[in-house]
Amino acid sequence: MPKISRAKLAEQTWNALTKAFPESACSLDYDLPERLAIRGILSAQCTDKRVNLTSKELFAKYPDMSSVASAPAEDIASVIKPCGLTASKTASVKDFAERYVGCWGGTVPNDVDELMKVRGIGRKIANLIVGEIYGTPAIVVDTHCKRVMKRVGITDSDDPARVEKDMMKVFEEDKWIAIGHLSVDLGRTYCKAQSPDCGSCPLSGFCRRRI
Ligand code: SF4
Repeated sequence: MPKISRAKLAEQTWNALTKAFPESACSLDYDLPERLAIRGILSAQCTDKRVNLTSKELFAKYPDMSSVASAPAEDIASVIKPCGLTASKTASVKDFAERYVGCWGGTVPNDVDELMKVRGIGRKIANLIVGEIYGTPAIVVDTHCKRVMKRVGITDSDDPARVEKDMMKVFEEDKWIAIGHLSVDLGRTYCKAQSPDCGSCPLSGFCRRRI
């Protein structure tokens, strides 16, 4: 296959994915901004389905950030345990709620650097929060996005920060939020880690790793 520029690959990827997944969107429940942020914290190495179920239970018990902030850590831990990484997620949830109530005056900051001051919130979750809540252009590079972008040929890196930079060079800003969701859809449906279904994949016409 002739070598295609990354810009061209990005254009073709965008066209194919938006056609294949016209309803693509974040699969975390979104009722209130602060709750979405908490769901983002809980989503690390956990399915969105599990996060949505567990967070429903969490917010039934602790409906606002004041009640989360004042709850004993062990009580929060016992509710969020099904999401895994219990100790670190409990610390993150508590730290987020305390900052929300204390430093941020009851709002979620539209600021990746400020959000990354919360224990356990990295760039991926901070990008998810500002993108989903404020529509601030930001690419969420999760495990699916990283895998898909490398296989297609938009990046050569496994480092999420590098992948994000490579993607920012070739996707226009107004596509940054959606391309993250679209990559997840492709990764879940066709481009699975162990057994990619290249024969049915909408990117098979140009993907450099099709098998
Ligand atoms: S063609 Fe295969 S390797 Fe390439 S994106 Fe599709 S499923 Fe993944």
